[in-house]
Formats: sequence, structure tokens, C-alpha cells
Amino acid sequence: MREYEWTGGDMPGFVTHLECSQTGERYPADTVQTVSRAGRPLLVRYDLDGVRRALPREALAGRPRTLWRYRELLPVRRAENIVSLGEIMTPLVPLPRIAARLGARGEILVKDEGRLPTGSFKARGLALAVSMAKELGIAAMAMPSNGNAGAAMAAYCARAGIKATVFCPADTPEVNVREIAMQGARVLLVDGLIDDCGKLVAEGERKVGWFNCSTLREPYRVEGKKTMGLELAEQLGWELPDVIFYPTGGGTGIIGMWKAFTEIAQIGWIGTKRPRMVAVQAAGCAPIVKAWTEGAEHAPRWQDARTFAAGIRVPQALGDFLILRAVRDSGGFAIAVDDAAIAAAWREVAAQEGLLLCPEGAATYAAYKQALADGRVRPDERAVLFNCATGLKYPMPEAGQRLMPDGGVDWEQFAASPSPTPAARRR
Ligand SMILES: *Cc1c(COP(=O)(O)O)cnc(C)c1O
Repeated sequence: MREYEWTGGDMPGFVTHLECSQTGERYPADTVQTVSRAGRPLLVRYDLDGVRRALPREALAGRPRTLWRYRELLPVRRAENIVSLGEIMTPLVPLPRIAARLGARGEILVKDEGRLPTGSFKARGLALAVSMAKELGIAAMAMPSNGNAGAAMAAYCARAGIKATVFCPADTPEVNVREIAMQGARVLLVDGLIDDCGKLVAEGERKVGWFNCSTLREPYRVEGKKTMGLELAEQLGWELPDVIFYPTGGGTGIIGMWKAFTEIAQIGWIGTKRPRMVAVQAAGCAPIVKAWTEGAEHAPRWQDARTFAAGIRVPQALGDFLILRAVRDSGGFAIAVDDAAIAAAWREVAAQEGLLLCPEGAATYAAYKQALADGRVRPDERAVLFNCATGLKYPMPEAGQRLMPDGGVDWEQFAASPSPTPAARRR
């Protein structure tokens, strides 16, 4: 068996149906679906009793360390339809120096999703969405993207032989735009925000019939994101953390993880403890924070959305009510951090812990610090921060000092206080 692929034959097939996330109306699986008649996201439902009987959690240990290890809880039926680029289990990296300085005794763990194919956790969702597209015979897909999702869709579509088109806001980081093109997709730059791009994708859906792979307009990206929750539970010995900080844009991650916890509780893999889910947004684009503060069920469009953390510059989310439900049901909260705090947090974690987060991931650390200071998180709690992409994909502050090769170096500037010799330390 190749390490990163499931080649053990067809899936047992525990999917029973799809369900409207608002009305509960049932829809058949195994056929192309978008949103429900009510215009809301469709969620995949499983025969969880069947999963419980088929898969004791201990059986997971012997499987390859990729997201396909949870295949009984994933929608793909036929192994041959799996489109994979090696979706490894991502590490939980502690921040011990920072925790010590902040007096956080309970551990700060970063779930580093930057290790996934295409450098972001969007790979989880798109691996599932594109595999399902292959299973359902879809030939062309399109989506609006701030960069990472488009790159992941392009990569998996290239591998599946599906035609891909991505609409990005014109100011999307250049590396993402070029990455999308390199991976065989058409990329169009729109003078607007991601929801403007979304309107064009919807228009193309009517005019040329491509499949619209926008966030929560198809049922399977959430199933891929769900594996973050499954993985986290397994990595922590089936004892969920006290609190999860998640950089929230379209919200598939929060919605997916919350769905994962509900499912594995029903299967009996975890007890009743749930983490408080914290939706982190940028102060310049915080529709979910506003709706949470006001106690509203939906989050109206945020005008004039601005932040350099591109992945969370989402002015309006189709799944707003599902994000808010997960945050409220978990006893969590929503919190905004401004770009200056995000930039400072970005530098701090990289310089002190050697972990180059993405700005969205840095936002979760900025939010954690704020919440620790205002008492919404206690120092003895175990917190998990989600770093959803590699920091290497983002433009970084200029650096480097110019030097002539032939002398004139002021060596004094490098003189550090000499570190004590081992012998001196023993004394
Ligand atoms: C897409 C993205 C997010 C937001 O994720 P959602 O699950 O859609 O809310 C956060 N960070 C990065 C780096 C992203 O690419």
C-alpha cells in the first residue's frame, strides 16, 4: 500500500443521505447536489451506528497517516475515485517559550495545516470535493477564491483531469495567482471582493454549466475540513482541548470540526467534553463577530472589508448561521483583532518559536493573547490555535542589510555577550 493513498478497495459506504442544514429536508446522495431548495448548505449524513460497529477507534492506529484513514466517515464510495496529493496528518506544535512568558500553564498548541499539499488546509476540503466530482462525473468546476482554495482546487482538478476556473480579487497575493495558473487552471482577476467573484461564478454556472465549488454551495468541502476535528481528537488521545481558536472566513473549518465532534460522540469515540469554539476575525472584516455580539442568527454583508489576512477577508458567509450555532452551542465566542496586532503576533511567533505562521494563523494567536488578558481563557486551559496555511505563501516585510564584499564590515555590531562554556555552566 502506498503510504498516502487508500488502495484497499471500495469504501464500505456509510452515507445515507444529504440534509438541508436549515429545514432538515432530505436529499439523495450519489447524485450532483448544490444547495437545498431553501438555498442553504447541504450536510452529509451517515449511518453512525454502522460506523460504530465497523470501526473500533483502535483500528485507526494501523492505517496510513492521512485523512483517508477516516474513510468510513467520508463520502467517497469507490477507492478509484480518490484524488490524493498526500494529505498527511498535520502536527500539533507547542509554543513553550511563549506559554512560559504568558504564564499559560495549560499548553498552547498550533495545529499546523501549512504542511498539507498546496500549503494550506484548503487541500482537505478540495481533496474531498474533487474526489466526489470525479465520482459524480463532473467535467468542469469553478470557484471564487482569495487564493488558497483556488490553488487547492486547481491542483486536485489537474490530477483528476477536471477543467478548473478560478476567480480571484485582483489584489490576491501574487504567489497564489501564479500557483493556480501553474497547476493548470484558468485564473481571472476581478476588481472586487470574493463575493463579487462568487457572483461571476454563479453566472457562469447558468451560462456554461460548470460546477460551482463555492464555499458551502457544494456538500463535500465541509467533509474534508471535518477531518481536522477527527485528527485533533485522535492526536490528543480522544480528549478534546478546552478551547479552539479558528481563523474564520467562510467558516467551513468551524462547521466541519463541530460536525466531526458531534459524529464521533454519537459513535462513542469521545465523551461529552467539547472545546469552546472561538471564531477569530480581522477587525477590518468581522461580520461574524458583529452578529455574535448582537445575538443575531445571520451576519449581514460587511461593508468595505479590509485586512492583509486574505483568507479571512470574507464579507459574507453562506453558512453564517452554522458558524454562529457552533460558537454558541460550544459556549465559545467570536473575537476581532486588528491588522497591527496580527502583524505583531506574526513576527512574535516566528522570532520566538521558529514557527512562521500565515497571517490568519497569527490572528488566532493575537486573539488568544487578548482572551487570556481579558479572562475569557484561563491560563490552565489547553488551547489549540489553527494555522491554516504556510507563512511562505505571503508577502513578508522587507529584510536584509546590504554589504560590500570587500571589507568595511563593522564587526562590533555582531559582538554578543559570549555564551558560557559548558565548564563554566557546571560551576
Ligand atoms: C480559507 C482560509 C481561512 C478561512 O477558513 P474557513 O474555514 O473558510 O473559515 C483561514 N485561513 C486561511 C489561510 C485560509 O486559506
